[in-house]
Amino acid sequence: MFIESFKVESPNVKYTEGEIHSVYNYETTELVHENRNGTYQWVVKPKTVQYEFKTDTHVPKLGVMLVGWGGNNGCTLTGGVIANREGISWATKDKVQQANYFGSLTQASTIRVGSFNGEEIYAPFKSILPMVNPDEIVFGGWDISDMNLADAMARARVFDIDLQKQLRPYMESMVPLPGIYEPDFIAANQGSRANNVIKGSKKEQVDQIIKDIREFKEKNKVDRVVVLWTANTERYSNVIVGLNDTMENLFAALEKNEAEISPSTLYAIACVLENIPFINGSPQNTFVPGLIDLAIRRNCLIGGDDFKSGQTKMKSVLVDFLVGAGIKPTSIVSYNHLGNNDGMNLSAPQTFRSKEISKSNVVDDMVSSNAILYEPGEHPDHVVVIKYVPYVGDSKRAMDEYTSEIFMGGKNTIVLHNTCEDSLLAAPIILDLVLLAELSTRIQLKADGEGKFHSFHPVATILSYLTKAPLVPPGTPVVNALSKQRAMLENILRACIGLSPENNMILEYK
Ligand code: NAD
Repeated sequence: MFIESFKVESPNVKYTEGEIHSVYNYETTELVHENRNGTYQWVVKPKTVQYEFKTDTHVPKLGVMLVGWGGNNGCTLTGGVIANREGISWATKDKVQQANYFGSLTQASTIRVGSFNGEEIYAPFKSILPMVNPDEIVFGGWDISDMNLADAMARARVFDIDLQKQLRPYMESMVPLPGIYEPDFIAANQGSRANNVIKGSKKEQVDQIIKDIREFKEKNKVDRVVVLWTANTERYSNVIVGLNDTMENLFAALEKNEAEISPSTLYAIACVLENIPFINGSPQNTFVPGLIDLAIRRNCLIGGDDFKSGQTKMKSVLVDFLVGAGIKPTSIVSYNHLGNNDGMNLSAPQTFRSKEISKSNVVDDMVSSNAILYEPGEHPDHVVVIKYVPYVGDSKRAMDEYTSEIFMGGKNTIVLHNTCEDSLLAAPIILDLVLLAELSTRIQLKADGEGKFHSFHPVATILSYLTKAPLVPPGTPVVNALSKQRAMLENILRACIGLSPENNMILEYK
C-alpha cells in the first residue's frame, strides 16, 4: 500500500513552526584489540550515542546554475523539468507519453514506513523531509557555446520530436552566460564550440562568476542557489605543493594567474566564496586539496565526483552482490561506445584518463571487505574502454563482462549489454544531487557531549549514492556499494524524523 505523506508521533520528535527536532539513538560498535590472558583478541562492544537533529522546514525558492547548461545533460534536465511543470504529454510511435521523473531517487522511489494490517506501507522518498519541488526550480548557467537551449535540445537528439516542438517556445529565450574556457583542459575537438567565453585573468573570471551568481539570484528572486558542473570532462590538474595544496597557495596562484588552475576549480572557488553549494558531475579533480581546504574553512558544501548513472551503478550493485554472496570476481571488463559530444571529448587521451580513474576504483571497498576471497593487495583485473562512435549519438552502449571464481574452482561469466540515452540517466541524478544538497544544508546535528549544533561536514558524503567516485573528507572511508550508499542516505533522513534505520528484520512476523 502507498501513502502520500505521514507524520511521526514520538516523545523524541517535535514538529514546531519552521523546524523538526529529533533525538536519535545511534547504535554503533566500538572495537578493541585486547590482550586477554596472554592472547590478543578482538572485542566488539555495542555502543549507543545520542544525537539530536534539527531540520529547518522552510523550503527555499531554489535556483540551479549549471556549468555546461547547453550540453546534452543541461538541456535534457531543463526540458524535462519544464515538461513536468507544464504537464506536457507527447505522441511517440508507441503511445502518448506523460512527463515524469523516473530515475530520480527523491521523486520516483519510495521508502517503507511500516506495516498496517499485515501489509507493507510505502511512502515517497521525498516525503521524509520537506524538499524543494523540482517543478519550481529556476534554471540558469554558463556554457562556452552561446547556443540557446531550444537549439541545444535539437542538437542533443535526446527527446522525441513532438516533445521538442512543445518545449521550444519555453527554451528559445534561455541562453547560457559566457563560460570560462581553457583549451588545455578539454579535448582540442571542443574548440569550434567555444564562442561564448569570459575574457580576462583567472581572478577576473572568478569575479565574473560571482557577479553572475548574484545577478541570477537577484533577477529570479531565488532564496538559494546550487551550482553543478555538467560541462566537459577536463583532464586532471597537477596537484603541486605551493600551487594548489592549501587554500593560501590556491589564492596566491589565482593572483598569479597560474595556468594549472582548471576552469572547474575556478567556478568552485567562486561558489565557495559565495557560500553556494558546488557539485562536480564529471570525473576530473576539480577539488584539489587547496579547494577542499577552502570549502572546509568556509563550511561550504562541495560534492562529487562524476554522476553514477549507468555502467558504474550496475557495477556497484553486481560486485557487491557477488562478493556478498561469497563469489570472487576476478576479471571485470567494461566497454563503452557513445556518439555524443561527451564521447567526442573523451576521445582525447587526457580526458579519457580522468574517466578511467573515476570508473576504476569503484569496486575497492567491496573487494577489501572480504579477505576470505581476496589475499591482501589482491584485486580483480579491471579494464575500462571508451570509444567514440558518432552514429549512436546520446544512446550509449555499455558492455560488461564479469568473470568470477565459484565453488571448487569453477568459473562463472556474466555478460551485460546496456543501451539507453545517457542524458536521460544523468538528468534525474542531477536533480537529486541539487535537491539533496539543498536539503542537507538545512539539517543540523550534534552528538551527546557536543556543545553546539553543526551542519554536516562540508564534503557532502551524503550524496555518494549519486556519484561514481565519492569525494570524502580526508581520512574517511569511501563507500561505493550502491545499497549501502542508499541505506546511509535514507537512514540519515529517517533519523531526522526520529525513525530507526530500515533494518529489514520484520520481527513482527517471526
Ligand atoms: P556535453 O558535451 O553535451 O555538454 C557539456 C557542455 O559543457 C557543452 O555544451 C560545452 O560547450 C560546455 N562546456 C565545456 N567546458 C565548459 C566550461 N569550462 N564552462 C562552461 N561550459 C563548458 O556533455 P554531457 O553529455 O551533457 O555530459 C556532461 C558531463 O557529464 C561530461 O563531463 C560527462 O562525462 C559527465 N557525465 C555524464 C554522464 C551521463 O550519463 N550523461 C554520467 C557521468 C558523467
